[in-house]
Amino acid sequence: MVNEQRDWASLGIDITKPSIARTYDVVLRGKDNFEVDRAFVNEIVKVIPEIYDVATYNREILGRGVRYLAGEAGIRQFLDLGSGLPTVQNTHQVAQATDPSCRVVYVDNDPIVLAHGRALLAENDRTTVVTADLREPEAILADPDVRALIDFDQPVAIMLVGILHHLHDDEGPQRIVDTFMDAVPSGSHLFVTHFCASSPESRDAEKKYLAMLGTGRFRTPEEITAYFDGFDLLPPGVVPLPLWRPDEPVTGDLSVGQRLMYGGIARKP
Ligand code: SAM
Repeated sequence: MVNEQRDWASLGIDITKPSIARTYDVVLRGKDNFEVDRAFVNEIVKVIPEIYDVATYNREILGRGVRYLAGEAGIRQFLDLGSGLPTVQNTHQVAQATDPSCRVVYVDNDPIVLAHGRALLAENDRTTVVTADLREPEAILADPDVRALIDFDQPVAIMLVGILHHLHDDEGPQRIVDTFMDAVPSGSHLFVTHFCASSPESRDAEKKYLAMLGTGRFRTPEEITAYFDGFDLLPPGVVPLPLWRPDEPVTGDLSVGQRLMYGGIARKP
């Protein structure tokens, strides 16, 4: 675990409340989290015992999705919004393993992401981390560090993986998606994964997320699919994460955890 005695406040890091990035780090079995984050996850485990597996399904589809985008779809630029703390198989590692010329901008509003991301990226001039708030898409699109790596005249993968559910309805998640997709040309792709209202347990989890973390909207499959309106949704569509182009066939009924998040990828025509 991180050293809990450091002066985190001076880095803008509040260790008295759970943070989205750090609680996600807990379920990915990372080390960049505090007692308050672990206590939150212990509460979620009471309603979703598989929550650690859910995080793994999300990282696995992130890997499969980026492999598809950099490979078959030929995308060379990735704007990874709400990117999280560095973990295994980060977007730039997966994309640059396919083609080293791939450029990746990570955007997150939690200062702990910048603190840890800088160290990881010190020697990679095709990847950067920007601290910014997704709820201000115009500022991100105008950011000089973003524009230094991303050419908005060429196709871009707009990645909103595990993040739109942290936006409240009145924060306009659809407007945010539209603003990013309007800024990129034909051939760009939208990649979304999202908490889904798919079981009674997901309803209980939503209540706990909202009460303890302040965010966490579990939207219906129809609401999640609506983010892709106007784009060509790639097969198999918006589906529970383990069913999106799995490396190995998935058989049998899916568990509550396997259905807890849905995701998909679409191409801008
Ligand atoms: N995309 C990664 C993945 O799926 O593995 C990380 C997902 S993590 C659950 C969500 C991330 O979004 C966190 O790191 C959090 O700090 C960040 N985040 C939350 N609200 C944000 C906002 N308004 N602007 C930018 N980042 C935000």
